[in-house]
Amino acid sequence: METQAKIYDVAIIGGGAAGLSAAQALGRARRSVVVIDAGEPRNAPAAAMHNFLSRDGMNPLELLEVGRAELVKYGVEVINTRALDTLRNEAGFTISLGNATEVSARRLILATGLKDQLPDIPGLAEHWGNDVLHCPYCHGWEVKDLRLGVIDSAMAMHQAPMFTQWSKRVTLFKGPNKVLAAEELEQLEALGVEVVESVVTTVLGEAGSVRGVELSDGTQREIDALVVMPNFDVDVSCVKSLGLVTQEHVSGIGRHVPVDDGGQTEVPGLWLAGNVANPMAQVIMAAADGLGMGLRVNADLMKEDFDHAVAELRMKKAVV
Ligand SMILES: Cc1cc2nc3c(=O)[nH]c(=O)nc-3n(C[C@H](O)[C@H](O)[C@H](O)COP(=O)(O)OP(=O)(O)OC[C@H]3O[C@@H](n4cnc5c(N)ncnc54)[C@H](O)[C@@H]3O)c2cc1C
Repeated sequence: METQAKIYDVAIIGGGAAGLSAAQALGRARRSVVVIDAGEPRNAPAAAMHNFLSRDGMNPLELLEVGRAELVKYGVEVINTRALDTLRNEAGFTISLGNATEVSARRLILATGLKDQLPDIPGLAEHWGNDVLHCPYCHGWEVKDLRLGVIDSAMAMHQAPMFTQWSKRVTLFKGPNKVLAAEELEQLEALGVEVVESVVTTVLGEAGSVRGVELSDGTQREIDALVVMPNFDVDVSCVKSLGLVTQEHVSGIGRHVPVDDGGQTEVPGLWLAGNVANPMAQVIMAAADGLGMGLRVNADLMKEDFDHAVAELRMKKAVV
């Protein structure tokens, strides 16, 4: 394995909004920074990004391209590959990469995002991010007033009422086994949500355009878009040797890595930014989180640098 002798101040695994924002703050603070990125941000399936002031409707990948271009003048290096594992050592961290090299850095920011695990329904994944959606704030406007079908999940009784704010034509495909409380049924009735006793077995339509659904009772329904609740999962295999633990998020929507208020983990020198720690963060929030983490890591490095400078001065004076 080829070894790079250089020890960066900071390595960042993940070049989404969180990782690139951390990199920009650190690059501008004159830190040597390397970003390792596999290039698969979770919103890549979506054609457009919303709720990012001044970038409304921009393609999610274009945002990252612009972000990467901005990093060049600050000397931030980007390596397009996957981080495989990370060891803690005297340098700080050494990360082995998918391109058969490794990099070392004094501090590490993990900004690897999360994975959306969709229900296993034929045809569903092809439409994910466009007319199969989970977040009304991201894409509710784009499906306003359309015929929306809510696929049953533990969050269905949260999603079905909520989406009536965007369309009055909401159908909940709850299936025969789910029992709704009298108040829940009353709320759905009051909001005009149709409740169907079958589950969706197939999504019909060509990629990019849902036409309808096939149901467990053998019938078909015309639907324009589907609301789904993926299970959020995090993959921390690139730091497996550091023993980082994942846990269920309090909201019940999946897993994340818990951090303290400052974004630091139990592993000294390892910080987390974006969806890997906070699954609820939208792009601008993940970016803000990355920026905050960049500043904290820089402060931590400064302390170490200042302590070294004082120790060196004392040594020099002692020799004289
Ligand atoms: C379909 C969809 C649409 C969305 N639309 C919107 C929207 O319109 N507006 C909005 O604000 N939010 C939207 N979101 C949420 C948005 O995707 C997240 O807020 C955002 O992506 C979080 O940024 P992040 O940097 O934490 O993670 P990500 O953007 O997921 O970036 C993580 C990066 O780390 C890389 N990575 C992971 N593991 C490794 C590894 N081992 N080695 C190297 N690199 C690695 C990934 O390849 C990826 O490039 C949407 C989400 C989905 C699923």
